[in-house]
Amino acid sequence: MIIACCTDLAGKVRGKAFPATQFEKRTRRGVGWTPTNVQITCFDAIADSPFGSLGDLVMIPDEAARVRVDLGGDAGVEHFALSDIRHLDGRPWELCTRSILKAALDRLERVAGLGLFGAFEHEFQFADRGGVVGSAYTIGGFRTERRFAESLIGAMRAAGLDPDTFMKEYGAGQYEVTMGPARGVAIADHSTILRELVQALSEREGRHATFTPIRDPAGVGNGAHIHLSFLDHAGKPATWDPKGKHEMTRTAGQFVAGILKYLDSIVAITAPSVVSYLRLTPHRWSAAFNNLGFRDREASVRICPVSDLSDVAKAAQFNFEFRAADSAASPHLQLAAIVNAGVQGIEEGLEVPEATEEDLSLLDAPALAARGYVRLPQSLGQALERFQSNPTVVGWFPEGFADVYVKHKTGEIAFLEGKEQQEVCALYEATY
Ligand code: GLU
Ligand code: MG
Repeated sequence: MIIACCTDLAGKVRGKAFPATQFEKRTRRGVGWTPTNVQITCFDAIADSPFGSLGDLVMIPDEAARVRVDLGGDAGVEHFALSDIRHLDGRPWELCTRSILKAALDRLERVAGLGLFGAFEHEFQFADRGGVVGSAYTIGGFRTERRFAESLIGAMRAAGLDPDTFMKEYGAGQYEVTMGPARGVAIADHSTILRELVQALSEREGRHATFTPIRDPAGVGNGAHIHLSFLDHAGKPATWDPKGKHEMTRTAGQFVAGILKYLDSIVAITAPSVVSYLRLTPHRWSAAFNNLGFRDREASVRICPVSDLSDVAKAAQFNFEFRAADSAASPHLQLAAIVNAGVQGIEEGLEVPEATEEDLSLLDAPALAARGYVRLPQSLGQALERFQSNPTVVGWFPEGFADVYVKHKTGEIAFLEGKEQQEVCALYEATY
């Protein structure tokens, strides 16, 4: 069987399976889908839904996003196709994350004549084994999970992803996996596929891998770092300008400026869980302010290094990284929010931002404000408030999206009310 599926507001991949022999037919007819499903939170409660029991949709699987990987052993074959959700008359559904991303990418093409090229870098933790003390970045830490890593790299390749690196990260049982860049909607598709492969392989071995934004506030978080650059119509890199500020083209600089200007209003989408805000705090190498960092790992957007040693041209190496994101989100929605913010920056003709090389947490509020920095929201509730009250940001999304999104997340927050922080962390660890 094959599952037609799509990432949703909860950052879950939901869908419906059918015999693979029907695939071709289903790429035209789709499989039936229900609007209220989008209000199922990551804890399986149904948030306030404007749709109730009404309505019908179709999910149309995309051949280009079809994955068939034999995981071996009892696990058998992992077979799914990422899909678009449409109304019965064929219009994209307003809550379809993949269609929302496609619209954002069209806007980038329309406004700047650019295509997006990039990759998600993922951190996750094995929750089933206590972290081995002294294993951060070590060969021993890698050795512990070599078998898993070898399976994952093979599965990524079979799924059409371009495996890059796998390493023991700093945190307890924490690993990081990277992949080569893809174009457009495939950037988010590949992130979705990677997360599913990690989950499928760990389930096969009776393991528990978690992408939760943070397991324990005393430890480090699991980030999703989104590397981005642009391609022009000829498919040539169009982000690097050796004479530009921070070596960015003016357009790339304005795109980054847009991200930073609207960041506090989009983190509700890029870092969308209650515990995401335990991670977005200073001194965790995540992101706490709307700053650009030049090779600084404590910035929301970081200009990544280019090396003279590489056989890849600098123009092709050059990229920037969005760090205020985690894997509790739909990668399609994350990318849509970032792209829309960036294009907004281009449209507004914003100045290319300065880069920080200091600890912003040492500045008080007036000093921050004088330099145009804001502390990012410190709770999901605050983040939703900023999202909802920014008409520009709300306007990037289809009619009704913001209202449904806020209701969804309000339902998620309500489910956790009265629970201790430890229990809240444990619930997120279980669901992601
Ligand atoms: N774990 C950090 C985060 O939450 C990132 C560490 C790194 O720079 O790789 O984003
Ligand atoms: Mg890392």
